[in-house]
This record gives sequence, C-alpha cells and structure tokens, in this order.
Amino acid sequence: MTTELEIGLYIFILAGFLGYHVITRVPPLLHTPLMSATNAISGISLIGSLVVAGANYSQLSTVLGFIAVTCSSTNVVGGFLITDRMLKMFKKREEFGTQHRLFNPKLLLAFPVVVVLFLVLMHWFRRSGTDTHMSGALSVTALRYFYILSAVLFILGLKGLSSPKYARRGMFLAAFGMVMAIAGTLFHPEIVNYRWITIGLTIGSVVGGSMGLRIPMTAVPQRTALSHSLGALAASLIGISEYVRHAAVGLDSVKMTTIGLEVIIGSLTFTGSLMAAGKLQGLLPGSPITYRGQNVFNITLLTTVVATLIYLIFVPSTSTLFFVIVGLALLFGFLLVIPIGAADMPVVIALLNSYGGLADASMGFVLMNKIQIITGSLDGTSGFLLSLLMCRAMNRSAMNVLFGAFGKVEKEQVGAAAEARGTVRSITPEELTVLFDSVRSVIIVPGYGMAVAQAQQGVSELAKLLSTRGIDVKYAIHPVAGRMPGHMNVLLAEANIPYDQLYTMEQINPYFPEADIALVVGANDVTNPAAKNNKSSPLYGMPILEVDRAKSIIVLKRSLRPGFAGVDNELYYDPKCMMLFGDAKESLNLLFAALKS
Ligand code: NAP
Repeated sequence: MTTELEIGLYIFILAGFLGYHVITRVPPLLHTPLMSATNAISGISLIGSLVVAGANYSQLSTVLGFIAVTCSSTNVVGGFLITDRMLKMFKKREEFGTQHRLFNPKLLLAFPVVVVLFLVLMHWFRRSGTDTHMSGALSVTALRYFYILSAVLFILGLKGLSSPKYARRGMFLAAFGMVMAIAGTLFHPEIVNYRWITIGLTIGSVVGGSMGLRIPMTAVPQRTALSHSLGALAASLIGISEYVRHAAVGLDSVKMTTIGLEVIIGSLTFTGSLMAAGKLQGLLPGSPITYRGQNVFNITLLTTVVATLIYLIFVPSTSTLFFVIVGLALLFGFLLVIPIGAADMPVVIALLNSYGGLADASMGFVLMNKIQIITGSLDGTSGFLLSLLMCRAMNRSAMNVLFGAFGKVEKEQVGAAAEARGTVRSITPEELTVLFDSVRSVIIVPGYGMAVAQAQQGVSELAKLLSTRGIDVKYAIHPVAGRMPGHMNVLLAEANIPYDQLYTMEQINPYFPEADIALVVGANDVTNPAAKNNKSSPLYGMPILEVDRAKSIIVLKRSLRPGFAGVDNELYYDPKCMMLFGDAKESLNLLFAALKS
C-alpha cells in the first residue's frame, strides 16, 4: 500500500510538471477551449464511478455510484462536444469555406449505442468464460494497457491546444482516449452488474450531449462552473461510498487521509461551483455578500474541518464525525464564494477547476487508479495556471480576488463616476459616415459589452464592409476583455472572423498611433488610460490597449457607466473621443445601414 502511495505521489507530481509544460504553451486565443477541454478530461472520474456503480458492494454504494456515473458522463460528453464546437470556429482567412472535418462530433452521441453494444458483448464474455480467475486476470492486464494509452492520448490532446491548427485533432485523440478508458473499465473484474451503469451513462450522455450542442457561447462560463460542480459531486459521493464500505472492515490512516481529502475538496468544490454558476446565470444576486469577521469565520471553519479530519485519521470509525466533515465542507464552499462578486467569478471558476482536479486526483489515490491521478493533476495545474494568468492580467492578487469582495468597489466608485470630469462628445451613426469616408485603417476593440449585446455578428459585417472599401481592419484583444480568458476570441470566431486578424495586446499597441479610428465595442476597463497615468486608480499598473493613442476614438456603449472595476474612464473625456450611445448591436446595425446608404 505504501509503495502504491509512493508511486501515486510520484505520478501526481510528474503529471503536474508535465501539465505545466504543456499548458503554458496554450495561446490565450485558446484559453476558453482549454477550460472546457480539461473539464471534459476531468470527467475521467467516470471510471471510478463505474466500478462503484457496478460492483454490488452495497445498495448505498450502487446508488451513489449511479449518481456519480450520471454526473461524470454529463461532463465527458458535454465537455468534448462544446470544446469541439468552439475549436471548429477558429479559422484562418484562407480556411473559410473549406471543410476539413476530422470526425463528426455528433458521433459522440452514438456513444450510448456503442456502450450498449459493448455491454451485450461483455455479458456474453462473462457467461461464456469458464475460468473466472483467468478471465479476471486478463481483464486487469487489459485495463492497465487501456489506461496507459489513454493517459498518453490525454497529454497529446492538451498538447494539440498549443495551436488552433492541431487543436481539434488533439481533442479528438483525447476523446478517443476517454472512450478507451471507459471501455477498458467495463472489463473491470469487480463490475458484476451493468444495469445502473447503463442507465447512468444514458442519462449523462443525453443531458451532456444536449448541453454541449445547444448552449450558446456566451453561456460557456456558467456551463463550465456547473460542470465542475457535477465532477466534484461525483468525487465526493465516491469518497462517501468508499468510507462506508471500508469503515466496516477498518480503515488504515492512508485510506482515511485520501478519502477525507476527496470528500472535503469534492464537497466544497461542489457548492462553490454551484454558487458560481448561479451567480453567472443571474439566478443568484451577483453582488458580494459580506459581513463583519467573515474571513476569520471562514478560516475557523476550514481549520475545524482539517482538525476533524486529523482526528478521524487516528480514530477512523467515528462515522458521525465523517458526515460532519462532509456537511462543513459543503458549507465552506458556499461561504467561500458568497463574498465574491459575479464579475470575479471567472477567476474563481479557474480556481475551482483546479480544486476539482485535486478532488479527482484524491479519488485516484483512494481507488489507487493512476489515470485519475494523472488527469486530476493535469486539471489542477491547468486551473491554477489560468487563475494566476487572469489575476496577473488584471493586476490583482489571488488573495484580493478571493477575500477582497471586489464588486463592492463598484458601488463606491459609481458615485465618483457620475461627476463628469470634462466634456463628453456624443455622435450619431449618420455623422460617423463622414468620418469613415477618409480613413485607411481601423482597429476594433471588443469588450464585455459586445458579449452582452451579442454584437459579434454586427462587428464582423461592419468589418467586411470596411474591408471592401479598402480599409485595413485589425482586432485588438486584451487578455482579460470580457469575463473569461479568451472570451473575445471565441465570440469573434463564432462570427467567422479569421483568428489571424486578431492581435494580442503586445502586438497591437504599436499600431494604435497609426490607426485612423479605434472602434471600441463595449470595452471599458481594458482601454482606461488611468491604468497608465493615475496612481490612485484601482486599475493602475494593469496593462491596457492604448486606444488613446489612435487618431480618433469611437466608443459604442449605452452610457458613461463604469465597467467591471467600477472606475470612471478618462478616455471618454478625451477630445479625440466620440461616444455612440446605445446597445452595441443596435448601434452597429445603424452604423452599417448608414455606411451602406
Ligand atoms: P468592462 O470594463 O466590464 O466594460 C464593459 C462595458 O460594456 C460596460 O462599461 C458597459 O457600459 C458596456 N456594455 C454592457 N452592455 C452593453 C451593451 N448591451 N451594449 C453596449 N455596451 C454595453 O469590460 P472590458 O473592457 O471587457 O473589461 C473586462 C473587465 O473584466 C476587466 O476589468 C477585467 O479585469 C475583468 N475580468 C475579466 C476576466 C476575463 O477572464 N476576461 C475575468 C475576471 C474579470 P454601459 O453599461 O454604459 O453600456
């Protein structure tokens, strides 16, 4: 057991380093697909769930295993489908109109059919097997090879995300790896009953499939959060099932530690992610809920949970305390997220992604399943890296995001924003046509408002019209524009904008002084010059798109209201700046019509 644990720890650490190496090579363009890809891969918790659901350990284990199978298969099917939907949209100019499909993603929907066929085969295999011992040994050996191959395919899949060109192919390999791991697990010698496995896989595939195929790209952040909560619930339930099963015969300290970590991380990630999804979907109030002594209370709660686990490691049979831990961890996840504003949720989601990976890895340690340790470690690294990248691009620390109740600043600053600090010039679409008559180059700066207005198609049509007039159009993408890493890239790709027209902040900033117009569509904080000039601004130090250096600036938004950071934008008082007030989609339509006529 100790050697197994030692090997598991080595695997966990090495997979983490490998994950770091592979994930740092994923360009910001593909950060949103990366989030849903790791999410799909973390659905590997399915394989542990399959064993528990099919092993007839006890009635309780079967029920918990069944729920875990349903949750995990929802993540696998939904995650791979939505990742492929996103990746299909990333094309270069010359690739438009070409169809180089690697496979039909809808084939994944045939997954339940394949599984049913497979189960029939398995049934036949078992019934015809004369020597049970031999067939069991054969299954275990086959399983090992299946898992090794799957792990290689997952890593190759993530490596594919280092370029849009190979990303789909990579994800196809990862999906294939997942199918292999699942198929291999169905040979597991402990599985004796396939009824609940079949039902769980069918429900999960239908729910995940419809989510993966239907969810709009603007809802990707909340889908990702929901999916983390399902994965974490699966890990937590399997932990409970394992505790109940082993407590009867006696738990050693290693098993108790791993089960404890699995249920604690799984439970807090479950409620935390559910809260995050609710806030992003607008089902729960988005503003931070704070009270006096909040951080002290939360830290005390976490300490109590850890202390109780330590006690349980020495006295593992105190089952009431085990369930107290589960309850407290659920409460902690909820309390951890309520002081965080809806706009900070993407950082929290990335962090919860990393916790979900840890819960998965702990499940791997509990079941001594090495592929789960590998994927858990990869998922953990990816989430952690993304949250750090987001914090760095926002010029904030992770501590400030988690404990700073940032949304509160918004309210305080709105008052300040109301005090106009100069003259604001507003303009109509018709007046703008005159300006567009003489321009040679335009840089479009999309932001969160474009996502809210769903104006990406309007942006694309306007850009095409300008291009037909010989105007050079470029897009400037700030790493934290919108509310998800790579958010703008996905939306613009959805509107058929070739990714080679999108420039990162470092690439585009030198072009602004030459640009005749910087057309800002629903972006605010990422263009605020206060980040460069005003030391007292909360944005000071955050790298921005230097829109203020363009020859003229047109801003499309509904009012002078501040953006996410709650800070007034000096740009709007710049004499070169003209405000086209209104919903971005409507304004673009009006501008397009005016330019056409
Ligand atoms: P922003 O600063 O939040 O500003 C968005 C602007 O869009 C608002 O000022 C709003 O102004 C406007 N808007 C909203 N609905 C609109 C509509 N229907 N039509 C036109 N305009 C509309 O957005 P950003 O410039 O993209 O900056 C992103 C912010 O989010 C940064 O502060 C970043 O740090 C933060 N953030 C990003 C991430 C990430 O991963 N991308 C994660 C966490 C936090 P009106 O109300 O006046 O229309």
